[in-house]
Amino acid sequence: MDIRFDDRVAIVTGAGNGLGREYALELARRGARVVVNDLGGSGSGHGQSATAADRVVDEIRAAGGEAVASHDSVATRAGGAAIVAAALDNWGRVDICINNAGFLRNNRFEDLTDKQIDAILDVHLKGAFYVGQPAYRAMRRGGYGRMLFTASASGVFGHAWQANYGAAKSGLVGLSNVVALEGSAYGIQSNVLLPTADSRLAAEMDPGFMEIPAFADAVRNADFAASEGRVVLPFNVPLALYLVSEACSATHGLYSSNSGRYARVRICAVEGWVAPAGTTPPTVEDIGAHFDQIERMENWSEPMTVYDEFGAVARAARAQGVYS
Ligand code: NAD
Repeated sequence: MDIRFDDRVAIVTGAGNGLGREYALELARRGARVVVNDLGGSGSGHGQSATAADRVVDEIRAAGGEAVASHDSVATRAGGAAIVAAALDNWGRVDICINNAGFLRNNRFEDLTDKQIDAILDVHLKGAFYVGQPAYRAMRRGGYGRMLFTASASGVFGHAWQANYGAAKSGLVGLSNVVALEGSAYGIQSNVLLPTADSRLAAEMDPGFMEIPAFADAVRNADFAASEGRVVLPFNVPLALYLVSEACSATHGLYSSNSGRYARVRICAVEGWVAPAGTTPPTVEDIGAHFDQIERMENWSEPMTVYDEFGAVARAARAQGVYS
């Protein structure tokens, strides 16, 4: 076991079940001291109980590891502070923070209620601020940190009836990118994971989304050939733990873990079409005439800051002879 977490203090939110539980158990097995946070509600985020987090802490301790439970909600400012305080009060530092807690409240876009929108933004997106900010401050003091935000292929690529979840999960990508930029000054790295597993959260899905013909076709025609027996929790653990290890130097990244295929997901811009030189903007018709080129997957780049994009524009303009 080369990659170890001895003397590291890790916070894993939503670690009473599913993915979070697996991360917490493996981190502890590899030497980390773990805050096992879980509110202990249902897969749709209703109710609460201390038993989910307590059971995982008992499992870790029974195996000779170190862990403490936190039963606070990530979805409030006070809850986030209490989760981080559990790490600081017990061990005086925070090295790793895996933002993972969450649940689903699916509905058609036009029918989503304020309650369904708020609950999902609160737990997935605002929760990442509530836990992430105090954790980041502690990491900054320690001069070291690994943040992992849990997004979702459904949330980022798209899944019908999940506009609330998609907005929250995609928001985490922007959040992590900025944390990565700012954290680079203090030894803090930040990445995003898109996991896939048949957890109870996945079982919570209302199949009502099959009413959308094009989406239903995508579901029916999906090729699961390489996924048999692999859309399960443990297949997500290795990449998650690598990303929060000292061995990993990657930051500002987005990674997919699906059926044993591990891959970087990139947000890139293609070369596109550059309007003729000068300060007269092109017409709407010019855009229509060049739309194929604007769409073409050629000479793409992945800007790591907004300023990188200006460089990509300059390269495209030179390549197309608009500027020399
Ligand atoms: P899960 O339901 O098994 O685990 C989620 C845990 O979060 C639960 O134990 C729950 O009690 C806890 N939780 C919910 N609200 C909380 C709150 N306010 N404060 C603290 N804890 C809270 O589900 P899972 O599949 O393991 O999901 C974990 C994360 O992975 C979620 O963010 C989910 O959106 C994401 N995800 C899961 C999949 C998948 O296929 N399972 C895919 C993509 C993303």
